[in-house]
Amino acid sequence: MAKRQSRERLGRSILGSSRRTEAQIVSAGPPWIGAHLSIAGGVDRAPQEAVRLGMNTFQVFTASPQIWPVRPGPGRARRSWGDPDVWQGSCVDADQAARFRQLVAQHGLYRPIAHSCYLVNLAASDRQLWGRSVAALVWELRRAGQLGLTHVVVHPGAATDGDEQQALVRVAEALNEVFRRRSNEDARLMLENTAGQGNCLGWRFDHLARILERLDDPDWVDVCIDTCHAFAAGYDLRTPEGWQQVKRELAATIGLEKIQAWHTNDSKRELGSRVDRHEHIGKGHLGINAFRWLLADPRFRQIPMYLETPKGRHGRRSWDEWNLRTLRKCAADPPET
Ligand SMILES: [Zn+2]
Repeated sequence: MAKRQSRERLGRSILGSSRRTEAQIVSAGPPWIGAHLSIAGGVDRAPQEAVRLGMNTFQVFTASPQIWPVRPGPGRARRSWGDPDVWQGSCVDADQAARFRQLVAQHGLYRPIAHSCYLVNLAASDRQLWGRSVAALVWELRRAGQLGLTHVVVHPGAATDGDEQQALVRVAEALNEVFRRRSNEDARLMLENTAGQGNCLGWRFDHLARILERLDDPDWVDVCIDTCHAFAAGYDLRTPEGWQQVKRELAATIGLEKIQAWHTNDSKRELGSRVDRHEHIGKGHLGINAFRWLLADPRFRQIPMYLETPKGRHGRRSWDEWNLRTLRKCAADPPET
C-alpha cells in the first residue's frame, strides 16, 4: 500500500499540477516517437521529461558524449593501451538506474535507447584509439543494460587513413571484440548510417551490410537509419518512388528486418551534400513528405522513431513538442498514393 501511494505521488510530481496540454498525454500505442533528451541533473530526468513532453519513447546519452567513458586501469603502461581490457569504466548510480527503470515501466515508455559517446572510432587504424573505442563501447552497453535500455546506437567510425575497405574490416573486428566482452544483461548494438562527412563510413547502406556480414554473431547487432544522414548521403526520400527505391536498396543490402530504429531528422543541406546538419521536420531540404511515407509505411509501424532536431523554444512550446506534433500529424494524415 505504501509502495502504491509513493508511486502515485511520484506520478503526480512528474506530471505536476500544471494544466496538461494535449501533447502531455502519452500515447500507449504506435507510432512510437520521442526525442534525444538531456541527462543534465541525472539520467533519471530523461523519462520524466519524455512524459512531460508527451513522448512514448526517447533516446539518451548515459554519460557526457564528449568525454571518454573509460580510462586506463591503475598502473597500466601506455604501450598496453591497445588492449581493450586495460580500460576501465564506471557503472550508472544504482539508485538512479532503479528510478529510471521504474519510470520507464510506470509510463509505458517503449524501447528507450542510448546513443554512444562521440569519441568512439571503431575504424581507427591507431591501435590505442581502437582499443579504447572497443572498451568504451563495452561500458556503454553495460551502462545501457543497467538502465534497461534495449540498444546503444553507434556510428561505424571514420577511415582516418583513407582505406575504406580496411576500415570496414576494423569496425567488424572491433564489434567482435565487444561481443566477446559483453554479458547477457548488457544492451544490444545498433549501427547507424551516416551522412558521409569527411572519411566517415556507413553513409552507403552496403557499408553497414559489409560490417554485418563479418560479425561472428550478426543477430546481436541491429541498424538505425537516420533520414537526414541518408538524404545527405544521396538517398532521395522526397517522393513515393524515391522512398520505394530506398526501401528496395535497404532490403537488398542490410535487410528491412534489421532496421530497429529511425532517427527522424530533416536536413539543413541538399541531397548528396555529405554534410550532417539536422533541421526541424518539414523545414529542411528533405521536406515533410519523406516523413509521411515513413509514418504511413506498415513495415515500420512498430519501429520507434527518435528526433535529434535542434532544441530551444518555439512560441509557447519547445521545438521538441513542435516536431513531435508534426510527426504525429503525418501519422494521422497518411499521403494519398
Ligand atoms: Zn542520428
